[in-house]
Amino acid sequence: MTHRNAQSSDSADRAQPVLVLNAGSSSLKYQVVVPETGERQAGGTIERIGEQGSDVADHSAALEQMTDDLRSDGVDLHSASLRAVGHRVVHGGPDFSEPVVIDDAVLDRVRELSALAPLHNPAAVIGIEAARERFDVPHVAVFDTAFFSSLPPEASTYAVPRDLARRHSIRRYGFHGTSHQWVSHAAAELVGRPIGELRQVILHLGNGCSASAVRGGVAVDTSMGLTPLQGLVMGTRSGDVDPGLHAYLGREAGLSLDEVDTLLNKKSGVLGLSGVNDFRELEQRLSGGDVEARLAFDVAVHRLKHYVGAYLAILGGIDVLVFTAGIGENSIALRAAVTEGLEDLGIVIDRARNGARSKQARVISPDGSRVVVAVVPTNEELAIARQTAELVG
Ligand code: AMP
Repeated sequence: MTHRNAQSSDSADRAQPVLVLNAGSSSLKYQVVVPETGERQAGGTIERIGEQGSDVADHSAALEQMTDDLRSDGVDLHSASLRAVGHRVVHGGPDFSEPVVIDDAVLDRVRELSALAPLHNPAAVIGIEAARERFDVPHVAVFDTAFFSSLPPEASTYAVPRDLARRHSIRRYGFHGTSHQWVSHAAAELVGRPIGELRQVILHLGNGCSASAVRGGVAVDTSMGLTPLQGLVMGTRSGDVDPGLHAYLGREAGLSLDEVDTLLNKKSGVLGLSGVNDFRELEQRLSGGDVEARLAFDVAVHRLKHYVGAYLAILGGIDVLVFTAGIGENSIALRAAVTEGLEDLGIVIDRARNGARSKQARVISPDGSRVVVAVVPTNEELAIARQTAELVG
């Protein structure tokens, strides 16, 4: 972008990229991003870290491979004088409501929060440790839960005994917060109104799915809870089930609690209902008349309507309904199905607008609609890069 042509030392500083890291237990996603311009200099994913037969023994080795890969893409992280590293951290627990510069105490706390996110936080800790050793720049943790720390008590509190909840930090935390926050701002920009006066419902529909209710840029409800298992039907996660299901499966199917947890996280959702978890594949089966695929689609849509309706009531009406992430940005059929029959609530889409393919933020409701329905691409990496740059100055 044209910003980069300016040659003053100040603008040269500002062109320094941020490295954004998202460490999973056996994967490392990375992007090198210039926060001001949004320029993505390079990026990639390293998979099968630490697995048998893999060349990449651990996250340290993965960072080494990343550095080599980047160099062959023409990005030398050392000479490019990296500004900072931004780490995506899934769970910030009750402690972190904003991004923080990582020091030993922060790292210890993220590690302690592993009880709340056993699938995610331990991997983030390993990624942060390896990256701090390799890159002598400020490291920032950006938490997936942070945007939802604003939930009012009536939305974040589960109706379980107070002392137990306090002892074990049990509450609704919400996830995908970086995306919901980014998208709520981008949608306000798209409709050309100050975010402060908008009531928005945001549907982040990717491999993981979540809905949020946002009033004036502040999150007031969200569908994920203590863990990212609650709420919408997802690729492999059940979303909402009767909490009694756990005990029932224990008694009737002889499953342990861990087995139920795995069942609901990894073998349920669209996969459990149809045998495939990729939404594109589900849509292919739908067009072939597959009845299981049809039921999976219908259950997912029913649940989405359930949340849209709930958030309409929570917000007392809405101005903007936004679809984002892989499915939300791309599935014409799903957007059509979720909005069908909601005319009396002011929610209508224009068939041709919904059917047009684009990578840009766009309105898909007819001009003059009571509720603006929009498709807004999410960009969690750029959001993390910007929050990181803001914090380190
Ligand atoms: P994400 O987690 O945001 O990367 O989203 C991944 C999900 O988006 C997967 O279920 C994909 O099948 C789905 N997806 C990606 N592209 C399309 C598309 N063109 N049509 C329908 N679903 C899509």
